Amino acid sequence: MKPQELVRPEILALAAYHVAPSEGMVKLDAMENPYPLPPALRRELGEVLARVDLNRYPDPSAPKLRELLARKMAVPAGMELLLGNGSDDLIQVLSLALARPGAAVMFPAPTFVVYSMNAVFSGMRAVPVPLREDFSFDAGAFIERMRAENPALVFLAYPNNPTGVLYPEKDVLEVIRACPGLVVVDEAYHAFAGKSFMPRLPEFPNLLVLRTVSKLGLAGIRLGYLAGRPEWIAQFDKVRQVYNVNVLTHAAALFVLERLEVLEEQAALIRKDREELKKELVRLKGVQVFPSAANFFLVRVPDADRTYEALRRQGVLVRNLHPGIRNCLRITVGTPDENRILLTALREAP
Ligand SMILES: *Cc1c(COP(=O)(O)O)cnc(C)c1O
Repeated sequence: MKPQELVRPEILALAAYHVAPSEGMVKLDAMENPYPLPPALRRELGEVLARVDLNRYPDPSAPKLRELLARKMAVPAGMELLLGNGSDDLIQVLSLALARPGAAVMFPAPTFVVYSMNAVFSGMRAVPVPLREDFSFDAGAFIERMRAENPALVFLAYPNNPTGVLYPEKDVLEVIRACPGLVVVDEAYHAFAGKSFMPRLPEFPNLLVLRTVSKLGLAGIRLGYLAGRPEWIAQFDKVRQVYNVNVLTHAAALFVLERLEVLEEQAALIRKDREELKKELVRLKGVQVFPSAANFFLVRVPDADRTYEALRRQGVLVRNLHPGIRNCLRITVGTPDENRILLTALREAP
């Protein structure tokens, strides 16, 4: 018996999500915050984690953590939170819950690949709608397509990954108003964008806001949250794995989020360094830089494969999006030192 005979054909056709080996590299490929927690906090956190009862299941209702997140992230009164093992987990929950036969999920493209992956897993019909050549959002075309496809679910990454572009607020509002289904505004990069739909949740019955602590500096603990009306959250809550957020993540999140200002200061530093890096990137010959409201840049070079390899040989890891996105590399904003190493390598790249 072979996998080909039993595994669903659409799974056989998938390529596994590729994560490049990164040991010893300047790691600018995954939009991580380059700054660790301050040493004193790390020690204190170590003591907190040592007291966690690893023999016990986590409390799946996690009232303290939800209350803390709601307070720190200014979730409007009356809205509820669903926690996930990263926001990837919540994208899966949404897809599984809404995958009625023939149901469609729509998103501008290119965008975060996890949306389309979960369409395949859940059996939803994925409808990618191309962004313009410059990766700006054609709200008119999107809305017209929504009328034809009647999607149950729309994902708008705000700002978008892998382009960094922040769609105009009025375009997003038009999509929310015109959508016959749920609109999930994915704010993975909210700390770098300075814009959010969180305060507007109460205005729209079909709006959900998806967040993660990953890009803020806690990618390793895997914690995402979905904010929305209690009647929606109650349905999605049935679909998640009962113990999807583990006890160490609970404890670490409670500890660090109480001290959110530490991460917010790091995010402010990254925003400043993003502007510095942009000034240098646009001066490089043959490099086109797309506008970014996130902690990374999408750049187009004459030959992305060649530049990617040249950077890798010099110890710098970025994300090569070619050929999916022609001759484009996605580069995370690192520390000032890392950004200098990147720029030097780029200047020397063939
Ligand atoms: C990185 C990213 C996520 C994934 O976040 P996790 O919480 O780490 O799973 C979700 N959405 C977008 C747009 C992202 O870029």
